[in-house]
Order: sequence, then C-alpha cells, then structure tokens
Amino acid sequence: MEDRKKLQGQVAIVTGASSGIGTGVAKALAAAGASVVVNYSSDRDEAQEVLGDIQKEGGEGFICKADVSSEAEVSAMFRETIGKYGTVDILINNAGLQKDAVFHEMTIEEWNKVIGVNLTGQFLCAREAIREFLRRGVVVERSVSAGKIICMSSVHEVIPWAGHANYAASKGGIMLLMKSIAQEYASKKIRVNSIGPGAIRTPINNEAWETPEAYQKLMKLIPAKRIGEPEDIGKAAVWLASDDSEYVTGITLFVDGGMLLYPGFEGNG
Ligand code: BGC
Repeated sequence: MEDRKKLQGQVAIVTGASSGIGTGVAKALAAAGASVVVNYSSDRDEAQEVLGDIQKEGGEGFICKADVSSEAEVSAMFRETIGKYGTVDILINNAGLQKDAVFHEMTIEEWNKVIGVNLTGQFLCAREAIREFLRRGVVVERSVSAGKIICMSSVHEVIPWAGHANYAASKGGIMLLMKSIAQEYASKKIRVNSIGPGAIRTPINNEAWETPEAYQKLMKLIPAKRIGEPEDIGKAAVWLASDDSEYVTGITLFVDGGMLLYPGFEGNG
C-alpha cells in the first residue's frame, strides 16, 4: 500500500519560488503532496516553468506575482490563495536578495532594499499566515498543527559577513523574528522554524562556484567538501513542514555541510 504523502491536501505558499532555493523547496513540497503557490516578483516565465515542472510530476499549484515588501501585494496574494484553496497551511518565507557593498560605501537604497525584502517581507507574509492559521485552527485531517512557517535564513544569522552587512543584519533579524513568533504562538499549535542554508548552488552566489578556482576556494569553508543543492534544502523543508517535526518549534535547522564548524581550525590552532 502506498504511504499517504506527508503533505497531502495541504496548501503551501513559497515566496521567491521562481529561482534558486525557492524552486527547490516548491518542487519538494509539491512532490510531498502539497498544492503550491509559486510566488515571484518579476520573472513570470521562470515561475511558469517551475509550475510546469511541478505539474509534469503530477503536482498542483498556481503562479502568483507579489513583491513581498509590499503590504498590499502580500495581502492580495493571501486573498487569492484562500479564495482558490480555502486556506493556507504552510508558509515558506523564502524570497531574499543580496545588494553587496563595502560598508562605508553602502547606500541607503542598498540597505533598504535588502531589509525590505528579506526582513520586512518575512514579517508581512508571516503576519498574514498567522491570521489565517488562527482563523482556521487545527483541522486534524490536514495536520496536527494549525499552521507551519519556515523562514529561509542563512548561516549568516550567526556568521558575520564583511561586505554584506545589510544581508547579515537581515538574517540576524530573521532569527529573532522567527523565535519571537514561535514563542508567541506555540500554544495555538502554530510552529515557526528557520532553515539556515550554507552555500547552495543558485544564482545568488554564482561567483562563488562557477569557476574551478572559485569552487576550490569555497571548499575551504565547507568541511563536507561539496556545495549544497536546492534539493538539500527541499528535503529539510518537507520535514519541517510535516507532522514528523510536530514537537519542533523555534529552531534554525542549518543545512550547510558543516560551514558553521569553524573549518579554519581543521589542522590549525
Ligand atoms: C548567501 C550566499 C553565500 C552563503 C554562504 C548565503 O546566505 O546568500 O551568497 O554563498 O550564504 O556564505
């Protein structure tokens, strides 16, 4: 007898699903049985392609344009989702970007853009999701939780990052946003966790892996001696979204090949 899929009958919004980690997570959730809202901000064609891949595998979903830093666009996305599917069970707070600059040359635009998408965007989407989870409450046929939020953080919620102060600040902010709302709503059976990816093969960091020289240099930071793939994050997201992790809330699950293990100390110090 085939096992019931882990996320069968549940609805997931994945922000920034048109590329990189978001795409990997959207496909993994769909394969686990969830209906997936493939959110994108500008790349309609790529979002359509991701949805096409999901459908080819027998999955279900639709594409939805929204800039997560806009309150109005975020509420419209939730309204459309609830209009189509009746509710939302899982939010993957994934949309994020980098605008790197040495700190003394960083512009207010570079600062505001990164904080706006990476941190304010997660606030806006989490708030809408929590409102819906509270309204619906637990429906045991769907899940033992009233809802699950997974925030895409980074190893840089812990590791300082010269030349990327805006990005690191956004990820440090996500850590305490996640923990604070996890604490606030645990008694309502809402679970909030983060995934902290290390270096994953996506367009955001292509300079770090696309030439053999860059890849060799990157490997000095990764004890597991391979770059991560979006699928590595997809698997973690399915577990955190499913009832298998029912008793887990307020954590960051690092998926980083050991990047946080002070690799410079291997054979040193
Ligand atoms: C960044 C990547 C970087 C990785 C490890 C991620 O959060 O977006 O650019 O390669 O952290 O440093």
